[in-house]
Amino acid sequence: MSITAPKGMRDMLPDEAAYWRNFQNIAFDIFGKYGYVPIEVPIAERTELFVRGIGEATDVVSKEMFNAISDENLNTLLGGGNISANKRLSLRPEGTAGVVRAVVQHDLVPQGAPPVKLMYAGPMFRAEQPQEGRYRQFHQIGVECLGASAATIDAEGIMMAARFFKELGFDESDFVLLINSMGCDNCRPAYRDKVYEYGMSHLDDLCDNCKQRLKSNPLRMFDCKNDTCRKIMQDAPCITDSLCGECNQHYNSVLSMLNNASISYTCDSSLVRGLDYYGRTVFEVQLASKDGAQNALGGGGRYDKLAAEIRQDDKAQANIPGFGFAIGYERCKEALIKKGFSIQNAQKLRVFVACATTDARNYAFNLVQQLRDANIAADLDHQDRSLKSQFKMAGRLGVSQVIIIGTDELEKNLVKIRDMQLHEETLVDASSVIKYFSQLTC
Ligand code: AMP
Repeated sequence: MSITAPKGMRDMLPDEAAYWRNFQNIAFDIFGKYGYVPIEVPIAERTELFVRGIGEATDVVSKEMFNAISDENLNTLLGGGNISANKRLSLRPEGTAGVVRAVVQHDLVPQGAPPVKLMYAGPMFRAEQPQEGRYRQFHQIGVECLGASAATIDAEGIMMAARFFKELGFDESDFVLLINSMGCDNCRPAYRDKVYEYGMSHLDDLCDNCKQRLKSNPLRMFDCKNDTCRKIMQDAPCITDSLCGECNQHYNSVLSMLNNASISYTCDSSLVRGLDYYGRTVFEVQLASKDGAQNALGGGGRYDKLAAEIRQDDKAQANIPGFGFAIGYERCKEALIKKGFSIQNAQKLRVFVACATTDARNYAFNLVQQLRDANIAADLDHQDRSLKSQFKMAGRLGVSQVIIIGTDELEKNLVKIRDMQLHEETLVDASSVIKYFSQLTC
């Protein structure tokens, strides 16, 4: 049997790969206007980074990690040995932890420095059960701003995300923006205790996972997909009733800036997001047309303690507040296609050079190089096809012009140019071909 792509991992064929690139360009163009600059971090990080950063009790870390192992380490394991913690690698399930690790490692926000605004795009890996909108390798674009705790960062970040969705092709009515505050280390522990007590009072009805979550991190019970647990959690205490004065003020500032910018949102006190590092603002953008599973297009929030968690050295006191979000490419693309959007053909060739003889082929080979040097996308036949099938190929490629080089044309130092739309042919002096195309508008 031939080898196929791994379960839950898709190929992006050329048309889609070009669209993914376009998706990134749209995002980076918008984010760049807000001062974000690109960063690339490794696809694999030490497992410890995700355990510490994202949280051991999260589904992402406890159930969905793809761990990478070298042959050497595999042999050690098979031989009954142990691999030291710093040699354990995992494929990144999300982008924030790696970016924050890079900021800390390279000291990108030294004391007193302005915040650093970073954007990224790339594949993420989660060993989930694949289904529509849920893959084991999926792609995200994201931003992280480190070094500022002001509500303006959160508000402009959310506005920037909303702008991206619109520019991508969504209407405002296509998505809903849910927002919440997760409080801080001052107010969250008391809230966590309330949720714990609430969970204990419904212990018998909770699923086994939630019984576990109740012990490790009761707020994770809000993420449960089990219908009974969801119903129970609908009446759980609201975090917004437990926020301290500062968190309340921060939250209200974000909301008032969104109001001023006419961004519609819904406050949702059950929104806790699946990762442990969030504090204060959290938000999610969901498809209005889809309920429940896989309806989130993107989301993020504030994570003021993550850098200190990753740092864990003598500088840990000098904290770096952060805010970021990630948007899933596949879910956006699938939703846009359901809306009637179609992905364009990636082929961008403008000219095909068809030739009748071997001499003409050598000539054509040089001519396509000249065309390319003049920024005109061009190609020729590489399979010794007949002139007729070269024309068919040109048609399939969708080029707008075909240059025809035959014996006659070679002798007279001329080339024939056929306009494929107008079905007209023009004879052009060989030395003027580049000029001819440069003057054409398409
Ligand atoms: P998260 O990091 O879980 O907040 O995810 C951010 C966005 O990435 C989600 O809103 C989805 O659009 C997308 N996403 C997350 N997990 C997957 C997955 N397994 N397959 C496809 N897209 C995903």
